[in-house]
Amino acid sequence: MRLFPKPRMLVLIGLLTMLALVLVGRWLNATKVGGQAPAEPFRIAGNFYYVGASDVSAFLITGPEGHVVLDAGYPTTARLIMASIAKLGFDIKDVKVLLNSEPHPDHGGGLAALQQASGAQLWASDASADSLAAGGDDADTILPLRALLWIGVLGYPPPRVDHRFKDGDTIRVGPIVLTAHITAGHTRGCTSWSFPVHDGDRVLNVVSVCDTGVLATSTYPEQAADRERSFRVLRSLPADIWVTAHARWWGRYRKFVASSTAKNPVEPFIDPEGYRAFIDAAEAEFHSGRMH
Ligand SMILES: [Zn+2]
Repeated sequence: MRLFPKPRMLVLIGLLTMLALVLVGRWLNATKVGGQAPAEPFRIAGNFYYVGASDVSAFLITGPEGHVVLDAGYPTTARLIMASIAKLGFDIKDVKVLLNSEPHPDHGGGLAALQQASGAQLWASDASADSLAAGGDDADTILPLRALLWIGVLGYPPPRVDHRFKDGDTIRVGPIVLTAHITAGHTRGCTSWSFPVHDGDRVLNVVSVCDTGVLATSTYPEQAADRERSFRVLRSLPADIWVTAHARWWGRYRKFVASSTAKNPVEPFIDPEGYRAFIDAAEAEFHSGRMH
């Protein structure tokens, strides 16, 4: 009987162990920096700006009585967001309100750092508030992912949730008025936002859509019914300009490039057809049962 594997087997085990360590290391790194690259900040329309990274979005809405920042990316995206706010000529200390679409680490991760730098008040839906305050822990997430969060691999520094809102509530900072729409499904507290911006003498309706994707790692009993309702809510919102928390979904770069040469730089961002197509595609994906 052989007690030890052959030398060739030992080499193979050694190589596989190294490969596994490299892959785990890369994965850990990706969860920390999110594979995010810095992106040029820009004005979308009026007082509405993009300040996010190459893919995870963050938005700045400015006003005379203080600014609002919507979403914060990964923990390490916060410094990119702060650099973008400064590059646009605004002061992080003038940010008075922080908002979030949903509390997964790619959108809630940087909130604590932004809050620390600004002193801003964080508003969240009831379900999101619990998860945000727990650094991303969420009872609807499957156990292996929660375990990774408990040992500090996933998760993020918890921000302080100052206020909770209900579906349909409005958040005001001087003349800025944002309406919260709970569009649950991706998570229970998933929040889409609608608000007007001014472009010259016209008013444009903006909708920030919360993630509509179906995750195999996050489920709860009322999820299917919530999704059906969320699609109805999203279809009912008038949208001239639409965005989501992942920039590739709303064509950030394509629209930004088109904007830089357009006669009216706002025009490439006006995309009601794209909004409807996005909802159609998300609803079709949901009904197909495909997950990602
Ligand atoms: Zn998510």
